[in-house]
Amino acid sequence: MPELWIPISEIPAEGRDFSFTDQALWREGWEEFSIAVKPGKDLVAEVSILPQAEDGALIRGTLKGSVTLSCDRCIVEYELNIDESFDTFEQLPDGEYDEEPRVRTESGELQLNIGAILWEEFALNLPVKPLCSEGCGGICSTCGTDLNKGKCDCEQDKGDERLAVFRNLKIK
Ligand SMILES: [Zn+2]
Ligand SMILES: [Zn+2]
Repeated sequence: MPELWIPISEIPAEGRDFSFTDQALWREGWEEFSIAVKPGKDLVAEVSILPQAEDGALIRGTLKGSVTLSCDRCIVEYELNIDESFDTFEQLPDGEYDEEPRVRTESGELQLNIGAILWEEFALNLPVKPLCSEGCGGICSTCGTDLNKGKCDCEQDKGDERLAVFRNLKIK
């Protein structure tokens, strides 16, 4: 999980706005999780942080930009636009062990891992199976024709696989 800790002790009660434009955060995440994406339009996060109580903060923001993904069926690259708004509350873990706390105290200073929050918002946008379009025809597994561009002469209908064994039977 990419880390980017920012101090929140000094933020006034009415909150403060931040803008995150450094693309290194995203590259770090793509490498760490071996996600096959290429940069598109710069991913920019605009975030308002409002301290809450003594040990937490309300985080509201937007994440915009794009990445280039490769279609799972036809391997063509396409752009995935990201335009998200989010709203979350984070606070110091209350005693229970938390492997990846989003808020911590470091030499008396309360800090927020905004990197982890932004990464999570990004990751939620990634499709499990990237497709250039819902109806992508894919590539013929026999001849390699891109079926979005035209049909090939291969037999596409393999029929019912369960009956395949009977088709090969020869009657003597
Ligand atoms: Zn495709
Ligand atoms: Zn074919």
